[in-house]
Amino acid sequence: MQDTATASKARNLIEGATGPWEVIVGLEVHAQVASASKLFSGASTEFGAEPNSHVSLVDAAMPGMLPVINAECIAQAVRTGLGLSAKINLKSVFDRKNYFYPDLPQGYQISQYKQPIVGEGEVEIDVDGETLKVGIERLHLEQDAGKSIHDQHPDYSYVDLNRSGVALMEIVSRPDMRSSKQAQAYVSKLRTILRYLGTSDADMEKGNLRADVNVSVRKPGAKLGTRCEIKNVNSIRFIGQAIETEARRQIDILEAGGAIDQETRLFDPGKGETRSMRSKEEAHDYRYFPDPDLLPLELTMEYVGELEKNLPELPDAKKRRFIKDYEITDYNAGVLVSDKALAEYFEAACQEAEKQNTDAADIIANWVINEVLGRLNKDGSSIEKSPVSPAQLGSIVALIGRGTISGKIAKDLFEIVWSEGGDPAEIVEKRGMKQVTDTAAIEKAVDEIIAANPDKVEQVKAKPTMLGWFVGQVMKASGGKANPQAVNEILKAKLGI
Ligand code: MN
Repeated sequence: MQDTATASKARNLIEGATGPWEVIVGLEVHAQVASASKLFSGASTEFGAEPNSHVSLVDAAMPGMLPVINAECIAQAVRTGLGLSAKINLKSVFDRKNYFYPDLPQGYQISQYKQPIVGEGEVEIDVDGETLKVGIERLHLEQDAGKSIHDQHPDYSYVDLNRSGVALMEIVSRPDMRSSKQAQAYVSKLRTILRYLGTSDADMEKGNLRADVNVSVRKPGAKLGTRCEIKNVNSIRFIGQAIETEARRQIDILEAGGAIDQETRLFDPGKGETRSMRSKEEAHDYRYFPDPDLLPLELTMEYVGELEKNLPELPDAKKRRFIKDYEITDYNAGVLVSDKALAEYFEAACQEAEKQNTDAADIIANWVINEVLGRLNKDGSSIEKSPVSPAQLGSIVALIGRGTISGKIAKDLFEIVWSEGGDPAEIVEKRGMKQVTDTAAIEKAVDEIIAANPDKVEQVKAKPTMLGWFVGQVMKASGGKANPQAVNEILKAKLGI
């Protein structure tokens, strides 16, 4: 791999005994294509079925069976390529990648080698307030293998072919990442894009997004070091840990005067270490050759154009629109678009507030991120299951906007709606949560506080920042319902400051 490091501006050096080291990361992500049936057969791709219940004669590699390409998988790969701003190759070729393993009944995997369906593209990531571009080298289609099960019986291994032949997109990045954080941001962004496109569920827990992580280290400015590939890392957290651990291992070897062997390694999250699996194969070990059972795949410009026309709005575009149309911060926009459902929730809440003549997108953004998301994260739940609907949140914020309730009371109201449901305006009415803007009532409370605290009155005259204490007392006396602005004004007038 060549070092095309567009992201190399942000140096994240690791300190070693002999000085700083730079870690270089490239990723090969396998994403399962969202499709009801497999890449070359009509068998179902359903997750969690009885072992060997979704296996066609093609998937079991019975003699004489021929693969038939699934048009939906092709469309999904093209959509993904377009979503990665990548070049779509109108002609691509399926090859056989030959290796022997019990869960691979054909004795080869149908993949794409020299002519993949998607060429170079890029993914934008935001890390520590900096936007970086990670280059995509290629995306190709290939079949998944079956699953070997070794832990069911002491004397036997079993093979489940349900996964055999399921379509995967292998998305290969350039070695553009310089830290575990950047690699994590890349995978998480890639996952967001795939979900927006609907081309993969990208659910790491179900194994339909897995990453092979290539790690090497070098002294800053030196040429690229020998890399090791850590296979099948299946969570964003583990990707970070695997990179940190592997970089440290390589640095220790090099600083002790050793050399890095190019090899395939496994990350053991329990032990927090990577260990050798096998020496790295070269492409020629696989005896790639074009699959004679499949014609080269030829697409037309019209076909690609039609798919492009129907692409949904993607996260980067949505983020730009949110910043421009709703005037929310770059940070908030980034958080909101990271999940399509969250972005939709925010927009629906804004629409409700707008219907009630409140233009408060920035307040809604903060409420969605801090209150709604905060609560959901604590419960390990997701935005789809939020007990407070976008319309209810929009109404709560509209009540603040109209001055009916204070921000403090709004938090209590939010708690009530969260646990009991109901219409926010009705709850405020019924439970007497309305903000007191009646100046006579506020004046009375202010007079009482002033009369009871002559010493504090002396202090605040010398030190006006003490006013906060008085505001707090009045708010407390009113049960949080006094209009804070009115409290401030009346206090200032009465204290003569
Ligand atoms: Mn692969």
